[in-house]
Amino acid sequence: MGTYCSSRFATIRRPSREVLVGDIGVGGDNPIRIQSMTTTNTQDVDATVKQAIDLAEAGCEIIRVTAPNKKAARALKDIHAQFRAAGFSNPLVADIHFLPSAAMEAVEHVEKVRVNPGNYADNKKFAVREYSDSQYNEELERLHKDFSPLVLRAKALGRSLRIGTNHGSLSDRIMNRYGDTPLGMVESALEFLRIGESHGYRDMILSMKSSNPKVMIEAYRLLVERMNSENMDYPLHLGVTEAGDGEDGRIKSAIGIGSLLTDGLGDTIRVSLTEDPVFEIPVAEAIARKTMSLWRDGYHEKRKPDSIDPYHFERRDINELNMGRALKLGSEEPPSIFTFSRLPLSASNELESSFSQAFQLLSDTPAEGICFKASRREDLQSLESAWESIKDFASLIAIELSSEIDLETLSRSLPSSDIPLALIRDFEDADFNQYKRFMRICYDFGAIPIAGLSPDSVDGIFSEPAKNLIVTLRSDLIADPPAHQVGLYRLLADRLKRWRNHSPIWIRNQNKSDKEPPSFLSRLLDASILTGSLLCDGIGDIVSIESETDFVRSTKLAYNVLQGAGARISKTEFVACPSCGRTLFDLQSTTQRIREKTGHLKGVKIAIMGCIVNGPGEMADADFGYVGGAPAKINLYVGKECVQYNIPQVEADDRLIDLIKAHGKWVDPEPVEA
Ligand code: SF4
Repeated sequence: MGTYCSSRFATIRRPSREVLVGDIGVGGDNPIRIQSMTTTNTQDVDATVKQAIDLAEAGCEIIRVTAPNKKAARALKDIHAQFRAAGFSNPLVADIHFLPSAAMEAVEHVEKVRVNPGNYADNKKFAVREYSDSQYNEELERLHKDFSPLVLRAKALGRSLRIGTNHGSLSDRIMNRYGDTPLGMVESALEFLRIGESHGYRDMILSMKSSNPKVMIEAYRLLVERMNSENMDYPLHLGVTEAGDGEDGRIKSAIGIGSLLTDGLGDTIRVSLTEDPVFEIPVAEAIARKTMSLWRDGYHEKRKPDSIDPYHFERRDINELNMGRALKLGSEEPPSIFTFSRLPLSASNELESSFSQAFQLLSDTPAEGICFKASRREDLQSLESAWESIKDFASLIAIELSSEIDLETLSRSLPSSDIPLALIRDFEDADFNQYKRFMRICYDFGAIPIAGLSPDSVDGIFSEPAKNLIVTLRSDLIADPPAHQVGLYRLLADRLKRWRNHSPIWIRNQNKSDKEPPSFLSRLLDASILTGSLLCDGIGDIVSIESETDFVRSTKLAYNVLQGAGARISKTEFVACPSCGRTLFDLQSTTQRIREKTGHLKGVKIAIMGCIVNGPGEMADADFGYVGGAPAKINLYVGKECVQYNIPQVEADDRLIDLIKAHGKWVDPEPVEA
C-alpha cells in the first residue's frame, strides 16, 4: 500500500483543496477550523439560536444542528435568519440521517449539509445477504439516483457537503461486502464522493468517526491512502464519536484527533463531549494550537517510513521481563505505570507518610514503579531506607542517574541487596564502552537496566544483544525534541526492530514548558497525544506522566490515558454520545447517574446513547447499552442485541443493573469508609 502522510517523524500538513463553508475556508492553507453541534431540540428555534450564539462567542467557527425530519429542516430557515440577525456570520450545518427529503429542505437554508453514507437513502435492515456484482451495481445506481439531487442542489446554491461516515452505521450493502471495518468505512465514503465527482461537484469534506480511537485512526489513514491513489484531495473533518465526558472524554478525543493532526492529517475538528457543547471549544482549540505549532513548511522527509504497518494495529513484540513483585512486561501484558517522586531518596521519614496518603487516594490504581532522581553519591546511599519506606506502595524502585554520578561511583555506592531496582542512564551516540560497563553493573547488582538513547545511538549500542534491557528516549530529546516526540519514539522502535531487539519501550511524558507550569488540561492533552499515538501504533510498555507536584493526579491520568487508548482497563468504560436535537433523555445527568451506580465495575463497558440513529454497531464492543427508544422510554442492550424495549426511564437504571447481575458482571461496591 502507499503512504498516508509525507512523514511519520515530522508534522507536514497534507495538501488538500480548500472547501468553502459559507465564508470559512476548510483545508488548503487555512488553519484548523473548530466546530461543534447544538444539543437543543431543533424545532425550539429560540433555544437553538441561543446555543448557537453561545458556541460562536466561545470561539466555535462552524456550528452543526441536527435535522431529524423535514419539520426540523424547515426550522433551520428561522434559526439561520435569527442567528444572522443577532450579528453572527458563522456557517451553519444541517446534520442528516436517513431522510433525503430533510436534506433537500435543509440545503436551502444552511451553508453545509452532513449526510451519513451508512443510512442516507438506505433502508438499513441489518440483513445478512450476499450481493452478486450485478446486485451490488444495481444498489450503487439506486444510490446515484437518490444522492444526485442533493449534490446538484448544493452545487447550484454554492453549499458544501460532508460525507460523514460512522463506524457502526454502515449500510447493509457495505457491511455484507466489507464488514464493520475501517475499509468498509472508506468504501462507503468513496461511493458518495464518486457520485459528487460525476456531477463535477467537489465541495466535499470527509469524516470517518468511531468511538474507538484505534479504529478511527486506521480509517482516516486508509481513506487518505485511497484518496491519494485516486488523485482526490478533499479536506478532513476529525472527531471521535461518543467519547464521553470529563477527563475520559478529553483523553479519547485528544488521542484520536491529536495523533492524526500530528501526522499532518485533518482540517477541521470537533471534540464530542457529553457536556454543554461550549466546553468542547477550549479543548478543541488547545489540540489545534498544539499540533499547528508542529507544522513544518518546506520540509522534505529524507528517511524511509518506519516499519510499522499503519493500517493494522499490532502490538510490538517484546521480551518478557519480570520486574519486582507482581510486575511483568510482555507483549500480552498491559503497559505498566511509573511515577516520579517529588521527594528525594534521602527523605525516608517523609516518604512513608507521603506515599501512604497517596496510596489511599490511588487505591486500586497504584504507581507500579516509583522513580527518584539521583545526582549525588549520598542519594544512592539512601536507597535501602527509601525502599523500606515505599515498599508497601510499589513493586519496584527506579533511580534516574544524572551524568554527575560516574559509573565508578555507581558501582561503589550501590548496596548489595535484593531490592527490586531499575537504573536509568542516558547514553551519547558513541558511548558503547560506557553502556557495556553500565550493563555489567546492573547485572552484578540484580538491577534492571534502562537506557536513554537517541534513535541514532541504537546502531552503535545494539551490535551486542542485551538481556532485560528497557529503552527510552534520552532526556535531552524528551526536554527539547528536534521534531515531534511521536516520530522519535517511532524511529527508536524502528531501529530496535532492525537489530531484532525486543526491548520494552518506556514512554515518558514530561512537562516541557520552561515558563509557567502547564495547566492540567495542557498536560492531559500532551500526554494523550504522545502516549495515545504510540499505543495506537503498538509501541509502549511502560508509561510515566511526570510532574514535580502532583503524584496522585499524574498516576491516575496515566491509567486514564491507557484506558482511553484501549491498552489497559482499570475501571468501567463508558461510551456516551454528546447528545443533540434527537436525544430522548437528559444525557449528562443520566451518564453521571449511571456512572455513580456502576463506576466500580472494572472492565465492564456501558454505552449510553441518546438514540439509535448510528445503529447498535457504534456500541459494538460495549457489554451493555442504555439507549433512548422513545420519549421517556429506554431500550436496553446486551452487546448489539436489544433485550428490553421501551422501559419507562424511571425504572431503567435498576433494570440495567439487573441485567448486569444476570450476566455475572456485577460486584457490590466497596463500602465507603467514614
Ligand atoms: S446518538 Fe446521540 S448524538 Fe448521535 S444522533 Fe442520537 S442523540 Fe444525537
